[in-house]
Amino acid sequence: MNLVWLREDLRIDDQLALYYAAEEKKGVIALYLITPDWWKKHHWGLNKQALIKQVLISLSEKLRKLNIPLIIKKIDGDKISDQVNFVKNFIQNFKISKLYFNRQYEVRESKRDFILAQQLKKEGVSTFAFDDQLLFPAGTIRSSLNKPLTIFTPFKKKAYSLLNQMILSVGEPALQLAGSLESDIKALDSWNPISESKMPDFILNHDDLDRRLEHFIQHHLHFYDEHRDRPSLDGTSKISIPLSIGAISIRELWKYINLCKISSGQQMFLSELLWREFYKNILIDFPHVGKDQSFKANYKDLSWIVDQKELDLWKNGQTGFPIVDAGMRQLKHEGWMHNRVRMIVAMFLTKLMLHSWQEGEQHFAYWLFDYDFSANNGGWQWSSSTGTDAAPYFRIFNPWTQIERFDPQALYIKKYLPELINVPEKAFYSEEKFRNYRPSSYPAPMIDYEKCRARAIEFFKKHGVSDES
Ligand SMILES: Cc1cc2nc3c(=O)[nH]c(=O)nc-3n(C[C@H](O)[C@H](O)[C@H](O)COP(=O)(O)OP(=O)(O)OC[C@H]3O[C@@H](n4cnc5c(N)ncnc54)[C@H](O)[C@@H]3O)c2cc1C
Repeated sequence: MNLVWLREDLRIDDQLALYYAAEEKKGVIALYLITPDWWKKHHWGLNKQALIKQVLISLSEKLRKLNIPLIIKKIDGDKISDQVNFVKNFIQNFKISKLYFNRQYEVRESKRDFILAQQLKKEGVSTFAFDDQLLFPAGTIRSSLNKPLTIFTPFKKKAYSLLNQMILSVGEPALQLAGSLESDIKALDSWNPISESKMPDFILNHDDLDRRLEHFIQHHLHFYDEHRDRPSLDGTSKISIPLSIGAISIRELWKYINLCKISSGQQMFLSELLWREFYKNILIDFPHVGKDQSFKANYKDLSWIVDQKELDLWKNGQTGFPIVDAGMRQLKHEGWMHNRVRMIVAMFLTKLMLHSWQEGEQHFAYWLFDYDFSANNGGWQWSSSTGTDAAPYFRIFNPWTQIERFDPQALYIKKYLPELINVPEKAFYSEEKFRNYRPSSYPAPMIDYEKCRARAIEFFKKHGVSDES
């Protein structure tokens, strides 16, 4: 009997570990561990957990049709040994001969898998690990000197030159002979994460997800290069949500979009999928980014400001800067935020407020349905200039001119800040104009933009900059 340990790969189609475990048709058990203590330690909130619960319910039905019982168990404790011991006992009890799983690249997850594989080896159980989250096997996109590529453009070029080395899609797993073991998903009854934001309904079943993707392809893909920067439009795919829990295969997605008519929008969308791949490779090759450390060593010990009251104003969308507040309120309402606005709020926190990127990273981890460690870490380190191929330290978005460029009719702002509904759109283009229209129900700006901009440049200069690309 083979065991598949499911983690962030909650689907049937092109799921590498599941496919290969089922290939021998000797019988497969699927195991999922609910680990709230572990997730808490990693700052996950209830949104992502609630999403996982919903997806597990539909997944168990799909697995049942393949005669693959799904066993779901809840584990207390946040130690590596808690999970390792559980899986080892499970393997003994069910007389499992081979364990299959898809790699997780985060530091503690990969350490856990390494320890488990070592211990199982001693007991004669083989483990098979797959790069299911990636388009290319880890470590293939390298420089000519076989070094990791830490700048996105060469990484992307190399990826395009290696398309024939992309991991092959595998389709659905083989049907197993009906066995006596029944699924056991009772643990779901006592685990009730209630999402704190509105649950995105389009990922809960395949038809809805397909419809969402079709809608995006028909209406936005070919204009993606223009629409993607307009937060008032539903102009991006929101595919990050199913991707983050593996409810959709990255390779199938790539193939599907790649077959669409070529356009500048379609090309840019594929390029964004490579940003995801890029940050996963950064985590694999530079695991220190997964230990709370800046990618750039000279930014390791920055003396960030610690001020809970200020931080709460940012978290609650009460900074007095409309585009920042709209973004932070979208995050809480929808458990998702538009990419342009993610960059604006992240730069606001780390440069204008001079709070650490780790504070922002954790807050996003808590709220985002699409929370993904490497993309989130990459985004935060990009915005705070501490990361690889990051924005230069002196690049600081002006929260007023960003509105003029990307939300000129203030539609996005007014959607999330209804108290500003009567402010004329052009009044949002500068602090000076806005001052005359700001209703008393909306806070005054918490900082002086010009002063804080100058302070940030001094702050970063002081810590020395080696790479301003
Ligand atoms: C501070 C900050 C935090 C972020 N945190 C996350 C996170 O936790 N999870 C996450 O998936 N993305 C994160 N991103 C990247 C990006 O904002 C989201 O992937 C994107 O907004 C998701 O919406 P979408 O699926 O509609 O994107 P689309 O524009 O439709 O893009 C398609 C896909 O390309 C990938 N992609 C696009 N932009 C990026 C990017 N900059 N980095 C990596 N992959 C990208 C994603 O998989 C995305 O689903 C973060 C960005 C920033 C600046």
